[in-house]
Parts: sequence; C-alpha cells; structure tokens
Amino acid sequence: MKPPVCVICSRRFSPQEEGGVVNFAKRKGDIEWEKKDIVEHPPYADWFCGRHFSYAENLSGLTINKAMEKIIERFASDYKQFEDADSY
Ligand SMILES: [Zn+2]
Repeated sequence: MKPPVCVICSRRFSPQEEGGVVNFAKRKGDIEWEKKDIVEHPPYADWFCGRHFSYAENLSGLTINKAMEKIIERFASDYKQFEDADSY
C-alpha cells in the first residue's frame, strides 16, 4: 500500500484518526490486475483524508476514473497534484 496521503489535497494523515482507503468499482483492467496477486496498492483504490473521504466513499460505486473526475471537480480548490507533495 501507498502511504496515507490524500489523493485530492496531498496531505499526509493518520488513518487511525480520519479518512481511509476508498475502493472504487473495478474496471476490466483491475480485475486482470487482481489475478496477478501482487501485494501493492490496488489501481482502483486510493487514500482520502477526513475532509474528502465521505464524498469519495459515496462515489465508490463508480470506477476510479469517473469518480475522480467528480471528486476533483467538487474539490477543485483543494486539489493538488502529487508532484507538489514534496513541498509539504
Ligand atoms: Zn484530502
């Protein structure tokens, strides 16, 4: 698994206290991925901090690409690309 860094705001958080992993609906490629039985972060799941978790979880019936579009649209002002995470 990746470290708990929110995929929306790039904030590192403690999953014991807030937020968590949201598992989205699996795409075709994700089902293929599962068959490989690799122990790493699933491509259809991501971390969300307490601020963004419940909205993301409500969209977990969608695939991750569809859901992320909506989540990023909803939280456009919070959204930070991972490339910027080093400056935190
Ligand atoms: Zn967040």
